[in-house]
Parts: sequence; C-alpha cells; structure tokens
Amino acid sequence: MQKNEIDNILSRAERYLRQQEELFGDSLYRGKAAAAPAQAATAEQWMGTESLSALNGEICTCMKCPLGATRTKFVFGTGNAASRVVFIGEAPGADEDAQGEPFVGRAGQLLNKILEAVGLKREEVYICNILKCRPPNNRAPLPEESASCTPYLMKQLDLIKPEFIICLGRTAAQWLLQTNDSLSAMRGKIHDYRGTRLIVTYHPAALLRNPEWKRPVWEDMKMFKKLFDEAKA
Ligand code: URA
Repeated sequence: MQKNEIDNILSRAERYLRQQEELFGDSLYRGKAAAAPAQAATAEQWMGTESLSALNGEICTCMKCPLGATRTKFVFGTGNAASRVVFIGEAPGADEDAQGEPFVGRAGQLLNKILEAVGLKREEVYICNILKCRPPNNRAPLPEESASCTPYLMKQLDLIKPEFIICLGRTAAQWLLQTNDSLSAMRGKIHDYRGTRLIVTYHPAALLRNPEWKRPVWEDMKMFKKLFDEAKA
C-alpha cells in the first residue's frame, strides 16, 4: 500500500473518531482539544426506536437547538423506509417548513425530475436533510445545529440501511465527510459514510441558479445509477 493511501485512511479514521466523540462522547478519539474525558451520551428514548415512524414520533418535538423554537413544522424525511438510496440535503426551506416535508419547493420539483431522469420515483427513494428544522432566512446550518441533529440522521440511516447516499450540495457533503473540499473536488468520487457508499452532487437549488451544472449532475446521476444497477444484479 502506498504511503498516501495509508495517510488518507488514517486521516479518514481520525475524522470519523473525532465526529463520534463530538456526537456521542466516544472516548476512542483524543484530539488536541479533548483534554478532559468525554462524557458518554445519555441514552434517550428515540435511540431504541425500531421504525422511522416511531423515531419521528419521538423526536418531532425536539428543542435541542434554538431552531426548535422558530420552526413551523419538523421536517423528518419522506419516502420508502426500505429504500436502497437516501438523498440528503441541507435543511428545510420555507415551503418545507410550512408543509413538514423535505424538498417540496422549486428545488424539490427539480429533484423529482432528476430522479425521473434515472428512472426513479420520489416515493421509491428516501429524502431527508441534515437539519430537521428550518434555519431563519434559509441561512446555512451552524455547526452546533448540525451536530445536534446528526444523531437523528444517523439513526434514520441505521433503520433504512441504504446501499447508497446521495449528498445534495456542498454544505451537506462537507458536514458528512468532515472536509472543507470544494463541491467539484468531492463529486465524481465514491466516498464512504459509516460504511455506506456516498456520492456528492450539486444541490438542486444551485442548479436552478446555475443551469450549466445540469451536465455534471447528469454525469453524477449516471455514475450512481450504474453502481445502483450493478449492486442489484
Ligand atoms: N433545500 C434543502 O437542502 N432541503 C430541502 O428540504 C429543501 C431545500
């Protein structure tokens, strides 16, 4: 194995362990900032749920971060609970906050078309966001909001057990992969998120503003569909 491959694996392992510690107080990682022993996360009722609907029921009144006080509706996620692929966006916008469903506005309509282009229907896949509540004025999620909400996303993924994750946009991808890489550096590759293959593409809202990104999105979706069909065969 080449040295750069080893360095890459080590840095991914360190990122993963650091994220585990931040989220769950896992004590395997001791970064520079972690002088004091991490507190183990307290077990909460939702952690033991065995279905998406039960999980939604347990967490939909969440007030762990300030967005709980400003949301209209909690936006848990929607779609097929046994889907082989989960699409993950950033956070609900105004339409999603009003309706309680992810990707229902203009970006959502474009996402539906992107899905159709590779022969998938919205109801067949699972769609959710890093954040379950809308940040005011659609600002980008704060790291503490993402950290507070990510355990819910992890639990959703643990229940769905998808074979693929499609990350929509730079913000969601940078958070899940714990990197500052640009979107163009992240796309076109197969990443790993907690043992699941993760592909990054442009956010449909960005595509609405930059139609020239249609081709790269199409390429990303073709790459995904080939892997998806091969894995099924
Ligand atoms: N943008 C997102 O990232 N998620 C939504 O649900 C809607 C718009």
